[in-house]
Amino acid sequence: FAKARGGNSFHFYEKKLNDMFEEEMLLDHGLREALLKDQLVLHYQPKVNTFTGAICGVEALVRWEHPELGRIPPDKFIPLAESSGLILKIDEWVLLEACRQNKAWQDAGLPKIPIAVNLSGLHFSQTHLVELIQQVLEQSGLDEKYLNLEITEGVFIKNVDPVIDTITRIRDMGIQLSIDDFGTGYSSLSQLQRLPISNVKLDRSFIHDIADEPKKAAVVKAIIDLAHSMRMTVVAEGVETKNEMNYLKQCKCDELQGYYFSRPLPADEFSALLDSEDDWKKPAARTV
Ligand code: C2E
Ligand code: MG
Ligand code: MG
Ligand code: MG
Repeated sequence: FAKARGGNSFHFYEKKLNDMFEEEMLLDHGLREALLKDQLVLHYQPKVNTFTGAICGVEALVRWEHPELGRIPPDKFIPLAESSGLILKIDEWVLLEACRQNKAWQDAGLPKIPIAVNLSGLHFSQTHLVELIQQVLEQSGLDEKYLNLEITEGVFIKNVDPVIDTITRIRDMGIQLSIDDFGTGYSSLSQLQRLPISNVKLDRSFIHDIADEPKKAAVVKAIIDLAHSMRMTVVAEGVETKNEMNYLKQCKCDELQGYYFSRPLPADEFSALLDSEDDWKKPAARTV
């Protein structure tokens, strides 16, 4: 009996593995097609100045508009795209699309703000990242000071020296660099000191319920103070409530991003928001 059951569960396991494999194959094939068939779209989430409420930046976030499955969020396909390497092509598309969009908004007379693009760590084991960025700026006509690249701490785990070299070259081009999801990885702020990075994005796990958790609140304040002492600015991610905003203001966090201000929006809705800037930054116009 036990043997039979073992056999069954083995077959069950094997079948599950097969299903998973098939699902991945389908997803991978689908993603390659998505790139060719224009099924990827960008949504845009504002970053606001903590003290004025003005939109001071925007982050481009990729979505997959699948013809049958509907909108697929990045967490569902980026890990797979990273294991297949396809993320390099996806990020290239995102980079160009985001720069073109930002240039189009500027040409339409909207306020000029930097656009942030997320880059997978995989780009740093490639040699032509710097050339790629140069090419994209040329193609889109966007001034380099309006581009901001977000990278995660994972980038610095191996081969630190070549990575620092690449990042320094990017910084020297006049592009802003941010460490994304700060606090979830392995690095500490003192390690970041070695890096030519001007901005830290505090992961949203630190922000959630911050006003009711004194220990969390203390950690956040310490990180902000230390970042400032190293001349880095801080963005808080995932700000969802007024209490969270108020605490971050008290800590002098420079910029805020989160559903409290706006969810990521399709391009036309974001440009309408940017266009109505003056109305929008009045606190009364905001609801939680
Ligand atoms: P991220 O770069 O840390 O982006 C922030 C994520 O938090 C976004 O999820 C955003 O929609 C979400 N978010 C923003 N405000 C709030 C809030 O107040 N509450 C909560 N609960 N969530 C909030 P999204 O768009 O699903 O993206 C997830 C991750 O996928 C991103 O995290 C980034 O790591 C990755 N990603 C997105 N687009 C790209 C891309 O073009 N290239 C690469 N390599 N990665 C990307
Ligand atoms: Mg990001
Ligand atoms: Mg993040
Ligand atoms: Mg993330």
